[in-house]
Amino acid sequence: MPKQIQLKGRIFLTFNIQAVTGLHIGGSETGIEIGGVDKVVIRDPITNRPYIPGSSLKGKMRSLLEKYRGLSLNRNIGGTAIHSCDQSEEYQQCDICQVFGVPGEMNFATPTRLVVRDVHLTDESARILTEQAHTDLPYTEVKTEVSIDRVTSAANPRRMERVPAGAIFGPAELVYSVYEGKDGYASIADPKKDVERFRALVEGLQLLEDDYLGGSGSRGSGKVRLQGIRVSVRSGEKKYLEAPQKVKEYDDLSALESDLLNLLREVTSVLGLA
Ligand SMILES: [Zn+2]
Repeated sequence: MPKQIQLKGRIFLTFNIQAVTGLHIGGSETGIEIGGVDKVVIRDPITNRPYIPGSSLKGKMRSLLEKYRGLSLNRNIGGTAIHSCDQSEEYQQCDICQVFGVPGEMNFATPTRLVVRDVHLTDESARILTEQAHTDLPYTEVKTEVSIDRVTSAANPRRMERVPAGAIFGPAELVYSVYEGKDGYASIADPKKDVERFRALVEGLQLLEDDYLGGSGSRGSGKVRLQGIRVSVRSGEKKYLEAPQKVKEYDDLSALESDLLNLLREVTSVLGLA
């Protein structure tokens, strides 16, 4: 019997991301000098505003979760060791590979559960940065960091572009799919387990808040905070064209965490899995 996968529904998690400290998410280092800045931020080519690529957000959460859970970092991609299951049995038990995907699709893999969209600077923050903050560059400040060469003791100043503290990006949108799947008679995706696995995503967000996004985190940059979290669900059971059903709203991540059991119960019910 062939492998069969059915979408049971999707969970949408939206929120704003506030930069609590200056945020540097690196753009392409093309060697073009922009105001004498060594390290520039990534910008939307159309609006010229800095943004947070979904891939940065997703990659950071994954990497923090891999270390939190002590997974084997068995693969090397671009000089960075990452985790990836290479056996079907291991994959069946691995929240991280099921939620975040396996690099280079394996034949045993079911679809990646999580999609993370790019997060743009809010219009309000863009306005404040332009009209009130009068930043060094459009929407950004330039911070000089001095590193000391440990051998020669020579100072090596670097000018780094950051989105100033207080700026708000949003709404971020995380789309989490719930699947049911069979390979012959064996279950390869259980929708109830997918809903339980949503917990891994919440853990990833908490790990992110306690860590940092982008560069120079150990020197203070990149602390972020989630605000205005909204959870809604679109059921796959012949109702996909209906508007997503709003399930819960939370001011911040700690409010969501303390209500997580209720949240997962409601999601299970809306998806018709109870
Ligand atoms: Zn894995």
